[in-house]
Amino acid sequence: MKSSIPRLSIHILLISIAFAAQLASQTKSESAAAPDAPYRNTSLPVDQRVADLLQRMTLEEKATMLAGSGWMESAPIPRLGIPAIKMADGPMGVRSWMGSSAITNAANAPRITSTSFPSGVAMAATWNPDLVQREGKAIAQETKALGRDMILGPTVNINRVPLWGRNFEGYGEDPFLAGRLGVAYIKGVQSEGVIPSVKHFAANNEEFERHRLDEKIDERALHEIYLPAFKAAVQEADVWTVMSAYEKVNGKYCAENDYLLTDILKKEFGFKNFVISDWGSTYSTAPTVNAGMDLEMPGGPPLHEMLKRPQTIMSGNSGGWLEADKVLAEVKAGHITEATIDDNVGRILRVLMLSGLMEHQHPPGGEVDTPERQKIALEGATEGIVLLKNQNALLPLDAKKIHSIAVIGPNALIARTGGGGSSLVRPDHAVSPLEGITKRAGSAIQVTSMVGVGMEGEDPAHDTPEARAADLKQAVDIASKADIAIVVVGRYYKNESESFDLKTMDLPAGQDELIQAVEKANPHTVVVLNTGDPVTMSRWIDSTPAILDMWYGGQEGGNAVAAILFGDANPSGKLPVSLPKKFEDSPAAKTYPGQDLHTEYSEGIYVGYRYYDTKNVETQFPFGFGLSYTTFQYSDLKAVPITVFNGAVHTNIVAVKLNIRNTGHRPGAEVVQIYVHDGHSKIDRPVHELKAFKRVELIPGESKMVELTLDDPAFQYWDPSTKQWTLDPGQFEIQVGSSSRDIRLRTAVNVTR
Ligand code: BGC
Repeated sequence: MKSSIPRLSIHILLISIAFAAQLASQTKSESAAAPDAPYRNTSLPVDQRVADLLQRMTLEEKATMLAGSGWMESAPIPRLGIPAIKMADGPMGVRSWMGSSAITNAANAPRITSTSFPSGVAMAATWNPDLVQREGKAIAQETKALGRDMILGPTVNINRVPLWGRNFEGYGEDPFLAGRLGVAYIKGVQSEGVIPSVKHFAANNEEFERHRLDEKIDERALHEIYLPAFKAAVQEADVWTVMSAYEKVNGKYCAENDYLLTDILKKEFGFKNFVISDWGSTYSTAPTVNAGMDLEMPGGPPLHEMLKRPQTIMSGNSGGWLEADKVLAEVKAGHITEATIDDNVGRILRVLMLSGLMEHQHPPGGEVDTPERQKIALEGATEGIVLLKNQNALLPLDAKKIHSIAVIGPNALIARTGGGGSSLVRPDHAVSPLEGITKRAGSAIQVTSMVGVGMEGEDPAHDTPEARAADLKQAVDIASKADIAIVVVGRYYKNESESFDLKTMDLPAGQDELIQAVEKANPHTVVVLNTGDPVTMSRWIDSTPAILDMWYGGQEGGNAVAAILFGDANPSGKLPVSLPKKFEDSPAAKTYPGQDLHTEYSEGIYVGYRYYDTKNVETQFPFGFGLSYTTFQYSDLKAVPITVFNGAVHTNIVAVKLNIRNTGHRPGAEVVQIYVHDGHSKIDRPVHELKAFKRVELIPGESKMVELTLDDPAFQYWDPSTKQWTLDPGQFEIQVGSSSRDIRLRTAVNVTR
C-alpha cells in the first residue's frame, strides 16, 4: 500500500503529461491551421515569422526536419504548410535528381536534360563576374522550370593539387578570384528565389579516400586560402546554404566540425542560414547536431538503399544519423537541447521564407535550353578559352586562305562537356569541336577528321596497341594533306571525375604520341586542350606552334573553339590556375595524397602562384596568363589612399587608376590584374597576392581608364599569434599585371592604419 501512492501519482503524472502534450499538439494544430498566423504573413520580419512557426511545431516535427526525406528532398511538414525543398545537382546546369551519381550516370537513368554550361574552371578563366552572375540566374531559371527549388553549387574549393578529380568544378587556385565568382553565381541564383549551396566547406581538395582522409591544415592557411571564398559567399551574398565537405579537417569530420561550422562559419562569419551535409558524410548524432549541422542529406529509403551498397561500405560513406528517432533519443538523453534543435530548424525555415518557397513552390513544366541560355553558355565557353601559345600568329585562321583542315583527336569528334560525378549535366545536344569547326568552315574549306587515338579506357576497339597504330597512321595521313591540323586532346568524365583523383598529370595513353606525330606531319598544328586539370606538355610543347585551353566548355564548347580558331572571337581567357611543368613542381606534391589517411598541408599559404612566384619556380604557364590576337598597353598608374564617406560610416581605401589601350588591330578584352606586394610585414608573406581585377573590352586604338579599389583586407594577413586579420602599416607596392609573372606597372602606396 505504501508504495502504491507514489506509483499512482507517477501514473497520474504521466497521464497528465500525455494529456498536456495532446492538448499542446491540438493547440498547435489548431493555431497552425489559421491562415492568418503570423508566420504566413510575408510583410513581417523573417525572424519573427520563424519564431512564430517554431513555437507551433512539436519537437517530433522539428526533429523530422533535420534529415532529408529522399535522395534530393528535405522533409516537409504538411500540417504547417512547410514544403520539402526539392534539390538538384549543379553547378554547371541542372542535373538529374533521380538518384545517386552512379545511377544518374547510367545510360538507362531517367532522362532529364538541361543546358550544359561550361565547367567552373572555364567560367573562372573568363574572370567575368557579370557573366557568372547571368549564368547563375539562367541555371536558377532552369531549376525552377524543372520543378526544383535548390541547386547544389557553386563549388569554390581551391585547386591545391593538380590531380584533384574535381578541379574542373571549382574556380581555380586563388581565393579572391574564387570568392568574386562564387558571390556572383550565388547572387544570380538567389535573385530567382532559388536556393544555392556553396560547397564543400571546407578544404575539399582531393578525392583520395575522401570519406576517411584527415587533413592537417594550419589556421593561417585556412583563413587565407581555404575559407575566404566561403566568407565572401556569406558576407557579400548572404548565401542561403553552405554544404559541408566529406573529409576530416584537423581530426574532425567536416559535418561535425564545431570549429568550422560554429566557431568560424556561424560566429566569425555571421552565417544565419543553414548548413547541409554532403551526401552521406555524417558519422554521429549529437556531435553532428551540436556542431552546427542543420540538415543531413540524403534521407529516407534511397539513403537506406545506398547504405547497403558494397561500394558505400567500402568507400566509407555514412549517413542516417540525424533521423528523427535518433535525434529524439539524444534529446531524451540530454545530449542535445531543444534550443539547439530550434536553432537548426529555425535556419531551414528562415531560408524557406527568404527564398519565398513557403508561399510559392515551383511547378515543373517550364522551358529549358532556351536560346538565351545557350547564348550565355556560348559566351562562357568562348570567354573562358585561353590562348596559351601562338607562334608566328598561326591563329586566327584566315578562312579566305585556308582550303583544308584536319580535325583530329579523341576529344575532337565527341563533345566532352564536363568532368564526371554529380556535376555532369546531360544536354539535349552538345557541339563537338569537329561539328563547330565544320559548321564555321563552310563549304569552301574541306574538313577531314580522324580520332587519331582512342580515349584510354573508353572504347576497347580503339584501346589496343594495334588499333592505336592504325588510328595514328590515319591521323598522320589526313594531317599531312591539310593546310592546318587541329588536335583536340584531354580527358573525359570517366577518367577525370568526382570520387577519385587523376593518377597522373600526363595526357591519357597515346595522346602525346598523337600530337608529336601530327606536328611532324604538319607544322601548322594547333593543340586544343579539353580537360579540367593541367596536363604535362613537355614532350611536345617546343614544337607546337599554337595551343588553346578550352577546359570543359559545356554544350557550346565546339562552337566556342571554332569562333576562337577563326577569329570571330578574340581570346580573352586568363588562367585561373598555374599550369606547372610537371606534377612534382606543385607545392602539394610533397604531401599528396598523404599517408595512413593523414595528409598535411605543409606548404601552408604557399598554394599556386603564391608558391611558384615566391620561390621562383618556373611554371609552364603562370597564373593569370592568356594571349590575345591584339595587344594592350598599360600606362599612368596611380594609387592613392582616400577616405570614402557613406552616411555616418567612413572607410579607408586605396583608389587605383590606370590607363589601358588596345594597340593592335582587333577588338579584344584584357583582364587587368592588381597584385599587392607587402615588403615590410612582420611575418612571412607571398611575394604578391591578387586583390582586384577587371575585364576591359577595347576596340583597336581605344583607351580606357580602369578604376579599382583596394580596401583593408587587400593589405591584411591572418596572424596566427593573435588569431586576427592584421595590417602592418607602411609602404605596399601595387602591381598591375597581365599575369602574375607579367607585371606591367608598379607604384608604392602608404597605408597608415
Ligand atoms: C558531392 C556533392 C553533391 C552531392 C549530391 C556528393 O557526392 O560531393 O557535390 O552535391 O553528392 O549529389
